[in-house]
Amino acid sequence: MKKYHLLLGGVVLALGVVLFWPRGNEEGGSKADQGPALPWFKGNTHTHTLWSDGNDFPDMVVDWYKKQEYDFLALSDHNILSKGEKWMKISAIEGRKKVKGASVVEKYRKAFGEDWVETRGEGAGEEVRLRTLDELRGEFEEEGKFLLIEAEEITDRFERHQVHINALNLEELIPPQKGTSVVDTMRNNLRMVKEQAERLGKPIVAHLNHPNFHFSFTAEQLAEVVEERFFEVYNGHPGINHLGDETHPGDEQLWDMANAIRLGKLQAAPLYGVATDDSHEYHGGNVSPGRGWIMVQAERLDANLLMEAMERGEFYSSSGVTLRKVSFRKGIIELEIAGEPGVTYTTQFVGTRKGEGAVAGEEFEVSRELQPVYRLRGDELYVRAVVTSSRDHPNPSFADQKEQAWTQPVGWRKLVEGRN
Ligand SMILES: [Zn+2]
Ligand SMILES: [Zn+2]
Repeated sequence: MKKYHLLLGGVVLALGVVLFWPRGNEEGGSKADQGPALPWFKGNTHTHTLWSDGNDFPDMVVDWYKKQEYDFLALSDHNILSKGEKWMKISAIEGRKKVKGASVVEKYRKAFGEDWVETRGEGAGEEVRLRTLDELRGEFEEEGKFLLIEAEEITDRFERHQVHINALNLEELIPPQKGTSVVDTMRNNLRMVKEQAERLGKPIVAHLNHPNFHFSFTAEQLAEVVEERFFEVYNGHPGINHLGDETHPGDEQLWDMANAIRLGKLQAAPLYGVATDDSHEYHGGNVSPGRGWIMVQAERLDANLLMEAMERGEFYSSSGVTLRKVSFRKGIIELEIAGEPGVTYTTQFVGTRKGEGAVAGEEFEVSRELQPVYRLRGDELYVRAVVTSSRDHPNPSFADQKEQAWTQPVGWRKLVEGRN
């Protein structure tokens, strides 16, 4: 018996070692090294419909994304959830078209049939009812295949600064909270997101949108609000100044500047970067869908699991490049690019080193391989990878845009341990 107990103790001990071994990687990223890799799910978290200032019916928009083989979609209208009864005048709907062409309501009827389209009134006063998220779920969701996530673009401002935050997986509307500064406005809205997440006991991801829209944010402001963990490193709206200008850094540069401050001075976790569409126009026009998305690695297609994976940084952002593997383990970043014939890929490992005078967003190494690898030296605050394809983006939102993928910063966790 004694021997048996000892043996059992040994087994438990061994099991303990296995269980407490870091989850395949010290810092988020892929768990591919622990047996079979988890599946990737493609999704867009920033979409507008007729529920606010988009110009097509929510069903038409959801149908488009599903047909393009997205796994999940968040409809994120401005300061409204797709709930309750909402009617819209046909004349107003047709008036939103940016390009002359077929009637929006006729297209809707053609796609879903006469019976699907509910109208009331006559003549100039004729209205159509907008389908709610619950109705859309019934029509489009498929277990393991397609998921709709409730979302809102909390649309606030401080003076000329646009403070837009997408809350994903919420249940109750959060009205813009206002504030006495850009930072205060951001904080007040994020506090409401956190309050709801805690009260409902579910993960709600909040991403700050298009920081360069009206050049609303500085890197210092993005750094200071450490409770914000996500921001849009790419947003497909052509009007958001993605590349910055002579006096303002681009979105990607802002990311490094903010993360250099967070990790170098504040001992706070870095921002993760999401890519989104922010689509508004579905009948021609240039604010169109399909430009930017995220790929989340999760056990299965479930809103809570997707949000939790994002919170762990287990996702990457894309405007066209697909990664089969993103792994960070024992100080080594390994990627596997899904290469396409005739296309070449340049991977830049970018980060910021420790110490005074370090350059925010320094290029550490460049690789032209399909399986680029970076070994951390130990003097980095963090490292991230950006892969740029030789292929032009098929529907560019800025001049000379190439297809890209951005992975999340890694190598920073020890610096903030005990602080978040
Ligand atoms: Zn916005
Ligand atoms: Zn938007």
